[in-house]
Amino acid sequence: ADNVVEKDTVIIGSGPGGYVAAIRAAELGQSVTVIEKSDTVGGVCLNVGCVPSKALITAGHRLQQAKHSETYGITTKEATVDFTKTQAWKDEKVVKRMTNGVNMLLKKHKVELIQGEAYLDNDTQLRIMPAGPRQFMDNGGGQTIKFKNLILATGSRPVEIKGFKFEDRIIDSTGGLNLKQVPKELVIIGGGYVGTELAGAYADLGAHVTILEGTPQIIPNFEKDMVSVVKKNLEKKGVTIINNAMAKKGENSKDNVTVTYEVDGKEEKVVADYCMVTVGRRPNTDNFGLEMTSVKTTDRGLIEVDEQGRTNVPNIYAIGDIVPGPALAHKAFFEAKTAAGAISGKKTANDFIGVPAVCFTDPELASVGMTQAEAKDKGIEVSSAKFPFAGNARAVSLDAPEGFVRLIAKKDTGTLIGAQIVGPGASDLISELSVAVNCQLNAEDIALTIHPHPTLGEPIQEAADILIGYPTHI
Ligand code: FAD
Repeated sequence: ADNVVEKDTVIIGSGPGGYVAAIRAAELGQSVTVIEKSDTVGGVCLNVGCVPSKALITAGHRLQQAKHSETYGITTKEATVDFTKTQAWKDEKVVKRMTNGVNMLLKKHKVELIQGEAYLDNDTQLRIMPAGPRQFMDNGGGQTIKFKNLILATGSRPVEIKGFKFEDRIIDSTGGLNLKQVPKELVIIGGGYVGTELAGAYADLGAHVTILEGTPQIIPNFEKDMVSVVKKNLEKKGVTIINNAMAKKGENSKDNVTVTYEVDGKEEKVVADYCMVTVGRRPNTDNFGLEMTSVKTTDRGLIEVDEQGRTNVPNIYAIGDIVPGPALAHKAFFEAKTAAGAISGKKTANDFIGVPAVCFTDPELASVGMTQAEAKDKGIEVSSAKFPFAGNARAVSLDAPEGFVRLIAKKDTGTLIGAQIVGPGASDLISELSVAVNCQLNAEDIALTIHPHPTLGEPIQEAADILIGYPTHI
């Protein structure tokens, strides 16, 4: 092609992986180009993932608080939701504000941003196509880039299941985040964290939600005693949870969708305004010419990388949802910094000893490091301690005394190797324990650290007190 330019560090994708890699690479003195096919930066997380979902959850909480504050002597005449305004707030004041911020950061770091879709030609070259129809492919249109180093950060997309083609009233999580009205009836297939978070949000906003979950437990990556606190609350919100349910087919009609599923060998049907399918995501490794390179993938379509994020091709790195490990934004952030550092010759390495996981249900779930069962599997002898939020003044004064903090420590040394929290503020509280697990602090370190009173962090100290044998408020 006559239109070839040479670049140093090229990054495909501007999600949590891509934009953070760009910033770090620029900080380390590299000349960086980011290629993004979407018309906004920020990837799934900022546009159709973490950020907008939390905005809808907030709106749901506000409505519920307005409706149910009689206990505190507060009554509102009538609390209603104008969902057009809710969506406008989410889009303009939350999502756009955050994506604009990323744009500004990329500019500040002099990162070149090219809008278009990248297709790989080989291990050192790619082409950029205008996003959209592919007719340019045949006549060799688009720009060709020769790169020294490449970071792949192309993310993931929703999985479609048999019988549920995404069309009309059968929607993915993106469709679920962008509904124009609060549905009266919403069926959610897949009670993982995405499905359950949105189930809570739409139930709070006034929908009747049915979750069809294939396994015996919703949010199966958290422990049973934690999830049961959330389950009770979802049911209180009126959510119908059907476990061991196999979704068979969804049939669109003009005004609704009929979902057929099987439970205990019996076929059942439920009619709803929308059916949202959130059964998982697949890595975007099959749609941009990766097969033209010598980069190796696993049988699940993930890209194999070393501890610096380097693929088997030394100048090509991969980060985020396209590599093994939990598909979480903060994991992508971390891998991004590691890969950018590696390209600059730094001795960076990914260390996944404590990747926190959070689910923004009511109350929130959070965990880091090992569970008791995982420790047992690894043959590690542990002690554990649990302190309930019911014994915490702040939780009680917030009228949110549900849930607990659990700490897991090595029996011989007291070193903290894991923690689980279900309760108010769990998403924020887990950071302290992520530091503890990552830095291999022991229970005594936490017990001897003065925690402010009255705060939701105190149950962490109380659990540590139990671990060292001197419980206080229990
Ligand atoms: P992505 O964010 O998927 O970004 C990839 C980018 O690459 C996209 O912008 C895409 O357009 C671009 N791209 C792809 N192919 C090409 C190409 N060929 N050329 C040019 N550009 C290309 N995670 C959390 O940690 N916390 C949460 O609370 C959370 N909530 C979520 C809620 C929902 C509803 C969903 C769907 C996900 C949520 N996640 C959450 C997961 C999180 O969004 C992902 O883990 C994260 O976005 C992955 O980042 P990434 O950089 O790997 O990829």
